Amino acid sequence: MSESLKSLIGKRVDVLDKGWIELIDLMPHPDSGVAGDLAIVNAARVSFMGESKGDEKDKRLLFYLLRNRHTSPFEMTEFKFRVRAPLITFWHWVRHRTFNINAQSGRYTPFEENDFYVPDIWRKQAKDNKQASEGQVSAKENIELTESLIKHYEESYRLYEKALQTGISREMARFFLPGFSVYYTWIVKVDAHNLMKFLSLRMASDAQYEIRVYAQAIYEHFFAPALPWTAEAFEQYVLKQTD
Ligand SMILES: Cc1cc2nc3c(=O)[nH]c(=O)nc-3n(C[C@H](O)[C@H](O)[C@H](O)COP(=O)(O)OP(=O)(O)OC[C@H]3O[C@@H](n4cnc5c(N)ncnc54)[C@H](O)[C@@H]3O)c2cc1C
Repeated sequence: MSESLKSLIGKRVDVLDKGWIELIDLMPHPDSGVAGDLAIVNAARVSFMGESKGDEKDKRLLFYLLRNRHTSPFEMTEFKFRVRAPLITFWHWVRHRTFNINAQSGRYTPFEENDFYVPDIWRKQAKDNKQASEGQVSAKENIELTESLIKHYEESYRLYEKALQTGISREMARFFLPGFSVYYTWIVKVDAHNLMKFLSLRMASDAQYEIRVYAQAIYEHFFAPALPWTAEAFEQYVLKQTD
């Protein structure tokens, strides 16, 4: 088990047109021999000073914990990711206060010409939900919208570069850049309990697509492979809410 867990560290998954998410560390580390679901089970068994009792009993205990919202053992395992995503995704992400976050600085690192998100599909405004989108524009409108967005990016970037060349500081030159769609890189660390809160909110259909795809990538490529029993229990008791 620890070998496959180890292979997750350093794994990078592409998301959106230029984004990605990479697992940079897991705690406990797979080399410890007590990583993944076992770390959660062992933390719970400290209540009566015990440890693993074999897969069947361990899995049953883990399901009991999640079903009964005994959540602190799930805080005993942590994930650290490096994320590259548009700023709109960052603004949604930082609302989750239990993540530790360290982000790229636009005051320090200049932005590059292709650092901008270009959506594949332009979604229409939803009729019943002021925050949401539904459906999509026609193929012709899609092409036109994408062309004008790229033109807008090119002009913004030209003004940004011009400002830098005339000696304007990086912290001010960036005012010329489109604020919601510029790609940004940040590092986050979070425990499994709070990651499940994030996943249940951000994988939901009412979350904006540009964060939903990151939540789905975390779940499918990192969370479920690292914590298979927890993922199974999470689907049963949190996502489907069945007993
Ligand atoms: C579909 C959707 C639409 C949204 N729209 C908006 C919007 O329009 N405007 C907006 O501002 N936000 C919006 N949000 C963000 C939302 O309000 C939450 O801030 C975000 O989802 C994080 O949830 P959380 O507070 O449960 O998570 P976290 O901040 O990760 O906190 C996890 C849990 O820890 C506890 N906690 C953390 N910090 C504290 C604290 N300081 N005091 C007490 N308890 C704490 C709470 O129990 C909380 O549930 C939206 C979120 C979603 C999913």
